[in-house]
Amino acid sequence: MKVALIGFGNAGGKVVDELVAHQQVDDLHFIRAVLAINSARTDLAKLDHVPPANQLLIGQTNDRVKGQGVGADPDLGATVTRQDLHEIERALDDVPLYDIDAFLVVAGLGGGTGSGGAPVLAEALKETYDESVYGLGILPSDEEGGRASFNAARSFRSFVQAADNVLLFDNDAWRGSEDTVGAGYQRTNRELARRLATLFAAGNVGEMVAENAMDASDVRRTLGTGGVSTIAYATTELSPETVQSRGLLARFRSSSTASDDVDAAQKVSGLFRQAVQSRLTCPADVSSVERALMVLAGPPEEFSRKGIEDARSWLEQRTGTMDVLAGDSPQPSADELSAVVLLSNPTQVPRVDHLQRRAVEAKENRDSKAGAREDAISKLITDDGEQLDPL
Ligand code: GDP
Repeated sequence: MKVALIGFGNAGGKVVDELVAHQQVDDLHFIRAVLAINSARTDLAKLDHVPPANQLLIGQTNDRVKGQGVGADPDLGATVTRQDLHEIERALDDVPLYDIDAFLVVAGLGGGTGSGGAPVLAEALKETYDESVYGLGILPSDEEGGRASFNAARSFRSFVQAADNVLLFDNDAWRGSEDTVGAGYQRTNRELARRLATLFAAGNVGEMVAENAMDASDVRRTLGTGGVSTIAYATTELSPETVQSRGLLARFRSSSTASDDVDAAQKVSGLFRQAVQSRLTCPADVSSVERALMVLAGPPEEFSRKGIEDARSWLEQRTGTMDVLAGDSPQPSADELSAVVLLSNPTQVPRVDHLQRRAVEAKENRDSKAGAREDAISKLITDDGEQLDPL
């Protein structure tokens, strides 16, 4: 699936930056256009792979922002996005619409610019273009406190309503205990980029025609449920035969002979099981998903039709849905075999329920503090017996 990639806010920009880097290294051509939008000039300056010409600073004319960011205020983030929608649309004028299947808007939902701006942009894109509009929403970790949960819970609701589907990434599930926050983000952004790249690169193999290849319509169908989705992923080393065949002898061998023996089948189906049983981008109850898509990516010599079919039957049982598409994504020069599973529209996502509960608590806390503060201020400025008249 070929996408126009838009990073909104700091986290959105960093994840997009990582995806662009990943695409360059692995030669996976799924990003057809890229734009990083932010209200903070300094955040844009930190990007290494999104060129300045593909960056847009919004809110410059807003007196409360002026290039300095929105201070984790999503309402202000939404306001400046609305004010600058024309500029954003102009920046998207160059997107080759004939060559993209979807827009992907990436944002951290616990802050201000991305949290407020991404849903507004997703809604505007839906109104303007025929292409699908997907979101990638990063949920804050519990450690970030009530305000981040409050922002995320509000943004989540509008983002899911505005976009065709929102892929979720949960910072809480991916928080490494020994990491500093910065180093942790770098690592998780890389993990996230690998998953997204493997999924979206499916079907973009150029001239290479694969028998069982996934294509953009498979991804679109799976995400067509609406709601949210989560991604499972696992990877394994190549078999010695594949590594060997990369040597001189490879020139005399056919590169597309699928080794459909028992070992290859077990390796492939085991890899899919491992993926689904490992940490998802956002933990969810797999038995509550509506549709799934399984992609096996790597050198075609490693593919096994039987392995994919076995894994598909297993996943149908795990999910309780027959709506499971499965196929492969040939990447002849890849140095590992990867299984990626897109699980769409799970209804049991404990993290979202938890965030919403925390957000309600944070709001009640804020309201009661605001009430108590008003009383305290009024007490402070009036004397105990209210005997004094103000001037
Ligand atoms: P914004 O610039 O106002 O949109 O706010 P940020 O993007 O800085 O932060 C929003 C949320 O994104 C935070 O609450 C964090 O949960 C998350 N976040 C920030 N940076 C990163 C990052 O590099 N990776 C990940 N996974 N999450 C991030």
